[in-house]
Amino acid sequence: MNAASADHGIDTVDTGFHRPAFDAAYLIVERGRAAFVDCGTQHSVPRLLQALGARGLAPADVDWLILTHVHLDHAGGAGALMRQLPNARLLVHPRGAPHMIDPARLVAGATAVYGAEEMARSYGDIVPVPAERVVSAGDGCTVELAGRPLLCVDTPGHARHHLCLWDERSRSWFTGDTFGLSYREFDSARGPYALPTSTPVQFEPEPLKASIRALLARDPAAMRLTHYGPVGDVQRLGAELIVQIDAMVAIARAAQAAGGDRHARLVAQLGDYYVQRVRAHGCALDESQVRTILAVDIELNAQGLQVWLDRG
Ligand SMILES: [Zn+2]
Repeated sequence: MNAASADHGIDTVDTGFHRPAFDAAYLIVERGRAAFVDCGTQHSVPRLLQALGARGLAPADVDWLILTHVHLDHAGGAGALMRQLPNARLLVHPRGAPHMIDPARLVAGATAVYGAEEMARSYGDIVPVPAERVVSAGDGCTVELAGRPLLCVDTPGHARHHLCLWDERSRSWFTGDTFGLSYREFDSARGPYALPTSTPVQFEPEPLKASIRALLARDPAAMRLTHYGPVGDVQRLGAELIVQIDAMVAIARAAQAAGGDRHARLVAQLGDYYVQRVRAHGCALDESQVRTILAVDIELNAQGLQVWLDRG
C-alpha cells in the first residue's frame, strides 16, 4: 500500500494564515487528478502549489477548488489560486458564488470586521473569479474527482453560504467552520477539544446545532476542520459543541440583559467559559496561554453573538 492510498489521498496543507497550525486547506488526490478544499489567502498560493508538487502533480492536474464557505480565511485566495490552475473550476455554495465573481461586498464586510490595516496585511488582494469558471453547489449535489464522489451538503449556522463535503472513501467530512475550532495545542489524554465559532455576521445557533447533528448522523470516522486539521472522537466533540453553543447563547442573553458595556462583558465571560472548558478537558497549558491562543476567536465570537442579538 503506498502513502496515497493509506491516507485516502488527502493532505492537510497549512495555509500559513495568522499562525502555524491555525488555518488548513486540503488536497485530495485521486488517480492523478486533484481537488483543493479551501485555499487560505493570496499569500497561501505558493504553499498549495508546493503541496501539489509534493504529490508529483502539476497545476494543470487540478480539476476543482471547492470552498466550504466564502469567509476570507478560507476563500480569500481563490481568485489568485484559480489563475494558477488552468483546468480547475470553482465549486461554491449558491449564496457564495456571486461574492467570488464580484468580491466587492465581501471585502467591504470583512473590512468592517477586521479593519483596513489587518485586511491589507493578512489577506492581500481579493481577485475576482471569472463567472464561467464558477459552479454553484446546491444541497445534495455530488462532484466527481476522477470518479471519486464528493457530496455537498448545505450546513447553515456558522454562515448561510456554508457547505460541508462528504468523502465516502475516507468516511470523513470536510467541515469548514461548521464543526467548530480545534487547535492541537489543546489536545489532552482525552483527545481533542473543540469550541464553536460564531464569527459575524450570520451565526444562527439552532441551524448550527442541526447542521452538527446532520454531520454526526453519517457516523464519520473523522472531521477535517479548517482550524485545524483532522480530528476523531467525533460524537463526543459534537455533543460538547452543542452544549457550548447553548452556553454561548445564555452568556450572550445575560450580557444583553445586564446592560452597560455588552461587548466587554461578552469578551470577559466567553474567555472565562472557554478557559474553564479547556481546563476540564485536562489540557496542560496555563490560563494565559489558553487566552493567548483563543484571543482572536473570543473577539470574533463576541462580535458574532452581538450581531445575532441585534437581529432579534
Ligand atoms: Zn468562517
